[in-house]
Amino acid sequence: KIRTRFAPSPTGYMHIGNLRTALYCYLIAKKNNGDFILRIEDTDQKREVSNASQLIYQTLEETGLHYDEGPQMGGPYGPYIQSQRLDIYHHYAQELIRKGGAHYCFCSDEIQEQDPCIHLSDEEIQQKIQNGTPYVIRQTIPQTGITTFDDEVYGHIEVENKTLNEGILIKSDGYPTYNFANVIDDHLMHITHVVRGNEYLSSTPKYNLIYQTLGWDIPTYIHLPTVNKDETHKLSKRDGDASYYDLKNHGFLTEAIMNYIALLGWAPEGCEILSLNELIEQFDIHHISKAPAIFDIEKLKWINGMYLRNMPLQDFHKLLLPHYSFIHQSVNLLEVSRVLQPRLLQVNDAIIQETLDFINQAYPFDIQVYSHKKFKTNPEKSLNALLLVQNHLHEISDFQNDENILQFFINLARENGLKNGQIMEPVRAALTNKRSSAGGAVELVHIFGKEETLKRLDQAIQ
Ligand code: GLU
Repeated sequence: KIRTRFAPSPTGYMHIGNLRTALYCYLIAKKNNGDFILRIEDTDQKREVSNASQLIYQTLEETGLHYDEGPQMGGPYGPYIQSQRLDIYHHYAQELIRKGGAHYCFCSDEIQEQDPCIHLSDEEIQQKIQNGTPYVIRQTIPQTGITTFDDEVYGHIEVENKTLNEGILIKSDGYPTYNFANVIDDHLMHITHVVRGNEYLSSTPKYNLIYQTLGWDIPTYIHLPTVNKDETHKLSKRDGDASYYDLKNHGFLTEAIMNYIALLGWAPEGCEILSLNELIEQFDIHHISKAPAIFDIEKLKWINGMYLRNMPLQDFHKLLLPHYSFIHQSVNLLEVSRVLQPRLLQVNDAIIQETLDFINQAYPFDIQVYSHKKFKTNPEKSLNALLLVQNHLHEISDFQNDENILQFFINLARENGLKNGQIMEPVRAALTNKRSSAGGAVELVHIFGKEETLKRLDQAIQ
């Protein structure tokens, strides 16, 4: 049975690269009816941020990445929080020392190449420990031979052991480093596929040496390309826009965010708009790219727009209603939603207010809005058209019916030897006081209704 784990460090908001790792872990597990495990890697006490674990739980919950085992519900191989597993790491550190894969080190500085402490006798070591000399446990790296493995994304990797550094496994504060804890936990938690960022690719041979010394099976590795801001810069938390909640605050839907994130380093064969279940079906590790993925906000907007457009109008309307509170004009809000739905890419106050500000304040009129090249309108011709509409508006039998409104304009234009646009563009301009707006004359008359439409026409004509 395939088992993957998402192993975040609780150091702040979940940024996009992290969420992508979580998603791929989830997809790989679920595609194979396997288990997806959450493990909190809180062994770097200095970097820990107090509510970061809660944010991780909340993000996974909101995004639908439900885990089968983890801190909150437990599971057969818990605890799933590393700071609660210190005894386990100490136990295996001792075993690794016995088997020659690690050693005590009392150097107060960074070591150069081979660690001098490797030559200490057991008695010397005991003596120093008894004297209270601070120590770390370091990995012992063989100075000969090569370590090889095959990564599912990056292919065959080969390194000479002597190029690997003898990194710290247990720090002087008694906490393990990532380099040690990840190996112990991935083994004890029966992880079959290790999915993580490619910043760990170069250390993986060291992990394999630990697996080998302990006589454990090496998992399948799937290292993921970085997510970049552009050709050369990594996306980092400092960019501000890079966390899940930042994107939510900018008005992106969770489904659209997840859909987009899936495409950062992987491409489906066909359509790119895919729900979580469709992603499970289609995801294929062989199509993960090793080229850095570029976070393209325009593409995210496009995908978000697709999701907004494809919702039932009622749902879209419900989503938008809280953002309409700035509208104090009494208008048909459902109609506003209907006009907005095919056009909106992001649901946030600033964008919605900018799009709809004409509903509140169309006055005072700007004469320039009546000049439209394509329709060959100008203020004078527009005034005539508006007078016509003003006199005949009562002929619209149903202001809630687009067909009816459109027919009215068409008839009026024909009867007066005008093009439709020569009537409708001035009406649109008069109702919005803008050169362009979401919605044309028909939709705007529908939104405003008879009374407000007449009022605005009157204002525009004066
Ligand atoms: N704790 C590591 C991190 O947040 C996890 C790496 C891994 O998935 O093994 O970068």
